Amino acid sequence: MYPISHFHFCPRCGASRSAPNASNSFECPHCQFCYYFNASAGVAVFIENALGQVLLIRRAKDPGINRLAPPGGFIDIGERAETALSREIAEEIGIQIHSIHFLCSQTNEYTYAGVTYPVLDLFFIAKSEASKLTLAPEEVRTADWYAPEDVCTDDLAFASMQAAWKEFLNCRLKFNESLGLPSANSAIGYGR
Ligand SMILES: [Zn+2]
Repeated sequence: MYPISHFHFCPRCGASRSAPNASNSFECPHCQFCYYFNASAGVAVFIENALGQVLLIRRAKDPGINRLAPPGGFIDIGERAETALSREIAEEIGIQIHSIHFLCSQTNEYTYAGVTYPVLDLFFIAKSEASKLTLAPEEVRTADWYAPEDVCTDDLAFASMQAAWKEFLNCRLKFNESLGLPSANSAIGYGR
């Protein structure tokens, strides 16, 4: 259930919620308190190394436990997306990334403790030369570099990630050219 379904009383005056509100806002008829339920914002990044391989993790917790994902997480209040990205990458896999570029946004839902949160995921592309990964075991089961052609799109944990992966495959060569990198790693047959 969405968060609004769990609001049975006004959080300011305590009045009972008289009728279910089908919209995305809670409006109290007694004290006029009004709360809008907006999407949470998340970030994730497809990190490429010099060999054209992409770093993907296997998630250590639900939703999507054991499934593949680009590393990332939720943006804190008052935090820039780029800052959240670098923070999450340092926390989850212990590396630094650079050449960060926005890829695309996708809508998502994230169910935790019986509540389904609408999410707007912001996907990025970045580079890293890091060879040693330091994993946060509560978040990340494994992390490995994959040749893009070895990744099956359906193995990614969320529909938003699957859609972003397809965008990534379409954009990565142009991205590398913009960085002045050779496109020798280009491959045919992506997008499974
Ligand atoms: Zn109220």
